[in-house]
Amino acid sequence: MSQQHLHDVLIIGSGASGLSLALRLDPSLRIAVISKRELSEGNTYYAQGGISAVLDHADSVESHVQDTLVAGGGLCDPDVVQLVVRRGPENIRWLLEQGVKFTRRERGNHPEDYHLAREGGHSHRRIVHAADATGKVVESTLETDIRSRANVDLFENHITVDLITRNEHGNNTSNCHGAYVLSKDSGHVHAFRARFVVLATGGASKVYLYTSNPDVSTGDGIAMAWRAGCRVANMEFMQFHPTCLYHPQAKTFLISEALRGEGGRLLLPNGTRFMPSFDIRAELAPRDVVAHAIDHEMKRLGADCLYLDISHKPADFIRNHFPTIHARCLELGIDITREPIPVVPAAHYTCGGIMTNSQAQTDIDGLYAIGEAAYTGLHGANRMASNSLLECLVYAQLAAEDIGRRISSQPPPPAAPDWDESRVTDSDEEVVVSHNWEELRRFMWDYVGIVRSNKRLARASRRIRMLQREIHEYYGHFRVSNDLLELRNLADVAGLIISSAQRRKESRGLHHILDFPHADPRQQQPTILIPDTYKPGQATPD
Ligand SMILES: Cc1cc2nc3c(=O)[nH]c(=O)nc-3n(C[C@H](O)[C@H](O)[C@H](O)COP(=O)(O)OP(=O)(O)OC[C@H]3O[C@@H](n4cnc5c(N)ncnc54)[C@H](O)[C@@H]3O)c2cc1C
Repeated sequence: MSQQHLHDVLIIGSGASGLSLALRLDPSLRIAVISKRELSEGNTYYAQGGISAVLDHADSVESHVQDTLVAGGGLCDPDVVQLVVRRGPENIRWLLEQGVKFTRRERGNHPEDYHLAREGGHSHRRIVHAADATGKVVESTLETDIRSRANVDLFENHITVDLITRNEHGNNTSNCHGAYVLSKDSGHVHAFRARFVVLATGGASKVYLYTSNPDVSTGDGIAMAWRAGCRVANMEFMQFHPTCLYHPQAKTFLISEALRGEGGRLLLPNGTRFMPSFDIRAELAPRDVVAHAIDHEMKRLGADCLYLDISHKPADFIRNHFPTIHARCLELGIDITREPIPVVPAAHYTCGGIMTNSQAQTDIDGLYAIGEAAYTGLHGANRMASNSLLECLVYAQLAAEDIGRRISSQPPPPAAPDWDESRVTDSDEEVVVSHNWEELRRFMWDYVGIVRSNKRLARASRRIRMLQREIHEYYGHFRVSNDLLELRNLADVAGLIISSAQRRKESRGLHHILDFPHADPRQQQPTILIPDTYKPGQATPD
């Protein structure tokens, strides 16, 4: 049976952004948090490195800002970068207050006494971390806190279908009053109504065949916001990690860059080392250079994977330095002390997303977006390592402040019609969903991956239009399921990525296109797609 739920704030997503917002809102508010699987399943849980913030007296806001602007390839919004970096230290302190245990230096209790790591692009040590499992520690701590809050209702194993919006003023602006949500246990769709709705649904890397992200990262929030009428920006900038384990049972296991740092060599299937012919720094070149080289060689040879070899180092050294990687590979039958590791690059981070302002508001009144689902202007054309969890925390704080200011004058949401299932039946051909899911992720990998070309993008554009027609027709006839909803969202997001990539006729940051190999100073602005004038999958007019 369909039910109606009423809350002050509806938060869709339970990663670092969703949970920290729920914890920051006034405890007198009734809050619902929706999560597609169990609360902890999302990108946050798998974050390894840490969170960047200016915590060392030798470091400065100016330096963090400058590093972020350089990494962003001229496309960051400098005001946003300033805002996020300035709020970094207080957000780390907030996490400490919630009980997060970061790795310490030898002694001390003050935030400045925590061990700070240095990562690519950062010119100072500024990454707080909990050993090599920062995300797990942050997520678990926030989860424990949220479960103790009496004002927060948690809905795990629930997937949001679409937003409930209404055009109230007879003009082009609409308001958001809630969302339709499928309970995966009961199979029923319920209306969740709220004064404010927040999308904290994470990224969209699952649109690619190989990804470091867990299964939930299907870009649902971006697709829902787009369908509801929000602008979406910079979707061409998808970040790829160069080395993910290639094994059927290990779809999301990263092989850390530290392995290359300690002498790991990248090899072709015939055992030849290839990185020295791409970059003087060989295996130690920056992430995107290594990812391009691997992609180039895989395409040239038609290979399924390449290899990363550290077996020339003493076995004890390998076991001591890489206990997690060694243990995980061994479980899968690969002994890294004796043989090379099969690797592929993998989609890792979605730099673009739903356009928001500096209060995390979207184009639709009452609707906010935070975390990886949002485009704030922080990352520009390339995300700097460990800036993403920082963005999650800062924008959750900004959204909490704005909702706190507005809540007393925001009227309760109007009634919403029940979900109508009178014209649909149970699916008779699930194979349509599984086939399209495979096809989409493969052609996105082959045609819209690390290196693009006009020809490949045109091919992808034709295919996505066909798939979207088929999926939308199927959606109109059959009862919704988790897989169908995710496929529909993946198809919409794929369309947005293709359209954005076709619009950017230059190579900049993470967007590399063979037909336009250089950056063009005239294109130094974000790619903004507007729903009314531009449909996903539509080819760009020349
Ligand atoms: C392997 C890995 C390592 C990383 N390392 C780092 C790092 O060291 N430092 C760093 O800063 N960043 C890192 N990142 C990136 C960072 O982890 C993410 O950008 C960040 O955690 C995103 O948080 P989020 O709250 O936006 O989304 P997520 O943590 O992904 O959470 C999304 C939530 O939305 C829910 N959801 C999605 N769709 C729906 C729907 N339709 N209905 C209901 N619920 C839905 C999901 O169930 C989930 O609860 C890493 C990412 C990965 C994958």
